[in-house]
Amino acid sequence: MMIKLKHIVLASSLISTTSMSFAAEIGKKPETPQIPNSPYVVHDGTRPIPPAVKTKGAVVSPPPADAVILFDGSSLDAWKQKDKFVIKDGILVAAGGAIQTNESFGDIQVHLEWRVPAKRRVNGQKGGNSGIFLNSAYEVQILQSHNNLTYPDGSAGAMYGQTPPLVNATSKQGEWQSYDIIFRKPKFEGDQLIAPAYLTVIHNGVVIHAHRAYHGPTTHKKVRPHKPSHAKDAPIRLQYHNDPIEYRNIWVRRLGDYDQGQPYQEKKSSK
Ligand code: MG
Repeated sequence: MMIKLKHIVLASSLISTTSMSFAAEIGKKPETPQIPNSPYVVHDGTRPIPPAVKTKGAVVSPPPADAVILFDGSSLDAWKQKDKFVIKDGILVAAGGAIQTNESFGDIQVHLEWRVPAKRRVNGQKGGNSGIFLNSAYEVQILQSHNNLTYPDGSAGAMYGQTPPLVNATSKQGEWQSYDIIFRKPKFEGDQLIAPAYLTVIHNGVVIHAHRAYHGPTTHKKVRPHKPSHAKDAPIRLQYHNDPIEYRNIWVRRLGDYDQGQPYQEKKSSK
């Protein structure tokens, strides 16, 4: 019993030390790796803070006919680990672990709407944190970033640990917000990287990334290169970061390729 208690105390002190050091980093340069082609290091608190832009909040976009519905308020059937998120009054709530889609995707358009509960206490990375992982490896950060400072590459819409959003379009806490995401997975020929993963994001109707390259999969405090395994399609993952982030209206479309329709054929005259 005593040993168990000791472990719990030690573990919780480690957690609080880690989060305290990161909470303190706004305005400071941490001892993390240099980001490629950038004057900044990962989670750099000296990086410029994205300017805030007021919007009217979520741009609600119903799914087009060729979309795969990931959540429409009724069920978690499109997802694995169904017990980790719960549905309350038609809203999906992060509750106990990450979930990932049954289907795998490659180049995609994703729409999702999210909200951080109004009364939840939020401070930096704590209290209002989730994320959508494209191809299971490339996070677009979800964070309550309205009047809540954190290291810029960890703020709402950031390519986590790499690139902050162009602007901070986050709505007030408690209000619905939308992400419209266009993602292209990295392209490899054998082990040779041909093209990195690319991201475009529109947050509440505002462009916050325009065809921006990822440096590789996103990771806390690290820089990692693209992996040939990411050339394959993979599920979309929604992160659980100990916060009950709420979701509604999530859908995805595969981008497909150009010139995939049928050529025009003149109708034969009936005369
Ligand atoms: Mg996150």
